Amino acid sequence: MSQAVVAEVQGNVAVLYMQSPPVNALSKSVRVGLIENINQALDNAEVKAIVISSKLALFSGGADISEFSGGNLEPHLPTVLDVIENATKPVIAVLNGPAFGGGLEVALSCHYRVTFASNKVGLPEVNLGILPGAGGTQRLPRLAGVAKALDMIVSGRPEKASKLAGVFDLVVEDPTNLLSEAMAFVQKVIADGAQVRKTSDVAIDKSSAPDELFAQYRQGLKKQARGFFAPERCIQAVEASVSLPFEQGLVREGELFMECMGSKEARAQQHFFFAERAAAHVSDYDKSTPTRDIKKVGIIGAGTMGGGIAMNFANAGIPVIMLELKQEALDKGLALIRKNYENSAKKGKLTQQAVEERMALLQGSTEYAALSDVDLVIEAVFEKMSVKKEVFGALDKVCKKGAILASNTSTLDVNEIAASTSRPEDVIGLHFFSPANVMKLLEVVKAEKTSADVIKTCMQMAKKINKVAVLVGVCFGFVGNRMIEPYGREAARLMLEGATPQQIDKVIYDFGLPMGPFTMGDMAGLDIGFYVRESRREFIAHDPSYCVVSDRLVKQGRVGLKSGRGAYMYEPGNRMPIPDPEVVEMAKEEAARLGIAQRDISDQEILERIIFPLINEGALILEEGIAAKSSDIDVIYVYGYGFPVYRGGPMQYADEIGLKKVYDAMCKYRDELGEYGGHWFEPAPLLKQLAEQGKRFADFKQ
Ligand code: NAD
Repeated sequence: MSQAVVAEVQGNVAVLYMQSPPVNALSKSVRVGLIENINQALDNAEVKAIVISSKLALFSGGADISEFSGGNLEPHLPTVLDVIENATKPVIAVLNGPAFGGGLEVALSCHYRVTFASNKVGLPEVNLGILPGAGGTQRLPRLAGVAKALDMIVSGRPEKASKLAGVFDLVVEDPTNLLSEAMAFVQKVIADGAQVRKTSDVAIDKSSAPDELFAQYRQGLKKQARGFFAPERCIQAVEASVSLPFEQGLVREGELFMECMGSKEARAQQHFFFAERAAAHVSDYDKSTPTRDIKKVGIIGAGTMGGGIAMNFANAGIPVIMLELKQEALDKGLALIRKNYENSAKKGKLTQQAVEERMALLQGSTEYAALSDVDLVIEAVFEKMSVKKEVFGALDKVCKKGAILASNTSTLDVNEIAASTSRPEDVIGLHFFSPANVMKLLEVVKAEKTSADVIKTCMQMAKKINKVAVLVGVCFGFVGNRMIEPYGREAARLMLEGATPQQIDKVIYDFGLPMGPFTMGDMAGLDIGFYVRESRREFIAHDPSYCVVSDRLVKQGRVGLKSGRGAYMYEPGNRMPIPDPEVVEMAKEEAARLGIAQRDISDQEILERIIFPLINEGALILEEGIAAKSSDIDVIYVYGYGFPVYRGGPMQYADEIGLKKVYDAMCKYRDELGEYGGHWFEPAPLLKQLAEQGKRFADFKQ
């Protein structure tokens, strides 16, 4: 018999414990174990009631998603739930910990449910691009009410048991009393005649589903669910629970579930789920590699990035010393951090006490000596190699042996920075994204000499400060910014060829990014890109059309939102971009000067010319080993650049549409766009190779 479920007969009650570490995923062995033990309990005349609970901290984390790839998976979960619901003795779920997805569906199919008030349950399937496919969409509305169930199923958000009165028959306040109170409840059920009470027999409370409920819900979800496939199917499944009898509702749920399972969005979201976890597995170190303790952190520069980075550590309870050249700059930086925290407090996200506790962890200094005992320093000063070298030279002198010296540079060569110290093995890049206290992504940049224990320490430290770390190698812009370069370049070029900023932005927005390249450029400030171009004119000199309109705008002081004008115009105090005819005119003039014919450009060409070169750059990054696997690039793009998760990231998107399509389009534009095409549309050798072999980026191993 399966060991994933063990039964203990306690008097007249059979208690079935799921015990399949780490999270009681409902794998085949658990499903088999549940059926076998229930049948045995039904056969045992001594047993009057059956309890399903767990030996682990979780009741159950839900489906075993490693089974999504197939195999002989019988009995499926709905079969198990049928066995539970049709049991002739009462089955009581005792939730000793959280129940998610299939785990909650197990509980919903039981005849009674008991838990403690702060316990959490949820149906998060929508996050994997699917819906609860084992009756969750039909049973939860019967117990929780339609509106509540709808919200839980479509949002995927867990809910506290105390807020789910209809779902639980007994909610105990103190979790330590759960077992004793649950067993007393079971005895009462037995004493009351051991009634079997099927959730499927519960009539839907129509008053919890007013006529306009679904229409209003759809309306409210429009922006948030843009581009996703599953949320609408979740709504339809809950609608079915209201309009159809239970059995037919289950059939409808099954159809919608299969539609979701077959969707490219589900493939993308499931790919991304694994991609995020895979990013933590790197070959540069192993279990035996030691790590260094990070008990105190130094941050150089209390500007935009330094302040945000410091907040991450304070939030994690790690003390920080911030270093600035002048007291004034230091005071300004610390005051801004306080303001950020106070804003969170005003919104009720933080207590005033927590604000003070976090601020107390942040100290300032203008003396390098203050950094003599820190375990990690992160430099976030101006993006200039000479300044960085000066800072690292100073750090080399004052920091203790074994301290990790990190740079937050976006573009500069971390090998060169490391070489300005006597301890390059301790130097690493930690590339945070702005705003650094909000953005989840951290590119951990390993330089040539960075030691394995420094890499491992930084990857683990990222988790502590709630970041998703991706390990990358040194090159201009690392992974994220290197790939954004062709994206921005093509947007600018398409404008010269006759597309308007709003047409281009709309194509990219409709593709699923939060905003198009021109809106993004205006928000970030056009001067930022300008300075990057200034620092590498020799690499772009062969293309006289390179971002010429943007250069002209910056030279006129039109640097975007902050100056009220950039690629768009802005009303004072309003962030809404307004098309600027002067910019379109400027593009016309520049095109004439450069001999570029203007024409109507299709949305498809815009999309391909902006997204495919970005993917092509990703292919170069992969073959150069700057990223270890294509899924790492996807994690960077979803968390760092707002690439839609329902497309799984740029590399998954390319794999989904087929690399041959990307390769052929690159060749087409290379050949059609004359000299310009020759400069920028040469397909990466890896793209060519994989396309010819009919393979995917995901198949590529270093
Ligand atoms: P910033 O101008 O807002 O802040 C830099 C701060 O460093 C200033 O407060 C300045 O007084 C201080 N400083 C300069 N030289 C110093 C020195 N020698 N010692 C101590 N302090 C010094 O700049 P930022 O936007 O925070 O950028 C900092 C770094 O982060 C740059 O390398 C940048 O490329 C990188 N970065 C920026 C972003 C972004 O979006 N802003 C994103 C990722 C990485």
